[in-house]
Amino acid sequence: MTLRLRLTFWYSTVLALIISLFGAAVYGILAASLTRQIDLSLAAAADEIIRTSRFSPELQTVHIPPNLDQFGGPNIYVQVWGSDGTLANQSARLTYTDPLDPGGLAEGRRALRDVRIGRIHLRVLTEPMQTAIDNQVVGYVQAAADLRVLDDAKSQLLLILIGGGVAAVLLAALVGGMTVRQALQPLEAITQTALKITRADDLSRRIPMDGAPQDEVGRLGMAFNESLERLERLFNAQRRFLADVSHELRTPLTAIRGNVDLLRRMGGADPTSLDAIQSEAERMSRLVGDLLLLAQADSGNLPLARDRVELDTLLLEVFREAQMLAAGVHVSIGEIDQAVVIGDRDRLKQLLLNLVSNAVTYTPEGGRVTLGLARVNEFARIAVSDTGAGIPPDELPHIFDRFYRVDKARSRLMGGAGLGLSIAQRIAHLHGGRLEAMSEGEGKGTTFCVWLPLTRRPTQVTLAA
Ligand code: ADP
Repeated sequence: MTLRLRLTFWYSTVLALIISLFGAAVYGILAASLTRQIDLSLAAAADEIIRTSRFSPELQTVHIPPNLDQFGGPNIYVQVWGSDGTLANQSARLTYTDPLDPGGLAEGRRALRDVRIGRIHLRVLTEPMQTAIDNQVVGYVQAAADLRVLDDAKSQLLLILIGGGVAAVLLAALVGGMTVRQALQPLEAITQTALKITRADDLSRRIPMDGAPQDEVGRLGMAFNESLERLERLFNAQRRFLADVSHELRTPLTAIRGNVDLLRRMGGADPTSLDAIQSEAERMSRLVGDLLLLAQADSGNLPLARDRVELDTLLLEVFREAQMLAAGVHVSIGEIDQAVVIGDRDRLKQLLLNLVSNAVTYTPEGGRVTLGLARVNEFARIAVSDTGAGIPPDELPHIFDRFYRVDKARSRLMGGAGLGLSIAQRIAHLHGGRLEAMSEGEGKGTTFCVWLPLTRRPTQVTLAA
């Protein structure tokens, strides 16, 4: 569930809850107060009849008013029942001669009840008539009000409350959803920019903040841009430093190597020391060359040809060179497809030679190194597998890091500085591809796969008249 949906959902749910509670309270209070009004007018009518009735003790009779229609409003019907259950009188408008509320009569005391007679809904008050002297119950007045108007009003109110409530919640959800979307739009822009930076390795991008509101999200965008600004400056400084250092180191190294040659030709110096100086100087030149290449690749200044490269031919070339490198390791070619990519032949060869020389280096005598080339969908996959030292799973994610070596002492002895795979990976990326390493673990061999996008075949366009 997105944040926008979640916010809208909770907002609407709370609103719906509040409206329901409010609606229920309005409905309940209104219904209760209208019913109380009716009850009061019923009580007034019954009291009036009782007050105007005369009880004559010597005759043991009650004189009730002859015209009962005058009591209560036009909506109120009255019956007067004797204590023996006979109907003494009733409103002339009333054609019904059974008790309006038989249950109320049976109870024998004051009762207010809702009664249904057929489809008519009545509110009936049963009020006992008592003599003033000994409180003897001599009869009952039943006053009834037709509740049709009240029921209609109540159902209309209910309809308005439910309809209005639903409409209000829907409208609020719509407006709320739109507002939240608008408020969160800069966040989406931040996410997209962050993704673009990661994918394109481009720190120069910024979140477009023109006209963005100065709210929390707007401030987050600005803070993000400031961080990017600083990061970009630091990265550029680091790249410049690396490029400058490697560039500056090349000249003295060339001078050292030249002087070693001179000393050797002049004779007199210890040849072992000269050999050591020469090999260290060459190693340092290689290192400086690698560093410079990485610095150039980082700053986008690495010149890269864009030629058609036949990978199968290139792989055979690498295979021949690998056979010369391999001392006691059996190098072979497995399956090989034809594949053409666009790129820099020399750099691609450097990439493959890096992988193959690693494979040969880290595979003990008697082991095997196999090269293969296959076309998989839109990609060419070059695999370099060996049966050598393998790489522990926890080291695998780091082997493409600069200066990272699994077995520090061993790889240093073998002349590696831990830059070969970083360069190989960089070259693969610059060609729109990727480099993957797989290993079952220590001693179980390693496979490196280079994936490069194949050239798209030019589509044949036929012109029809
Ligand atoms: P190096 O110059 O030290 O070989 P790389 O960047 O080429 O540096 O390789 C990094 C590390 O990855 C190496 O030090 C080595 O430990 C490990 N590695 C590379 N290729 C293999 C392989 N085929 N088999 C086992 N380990 C390897």
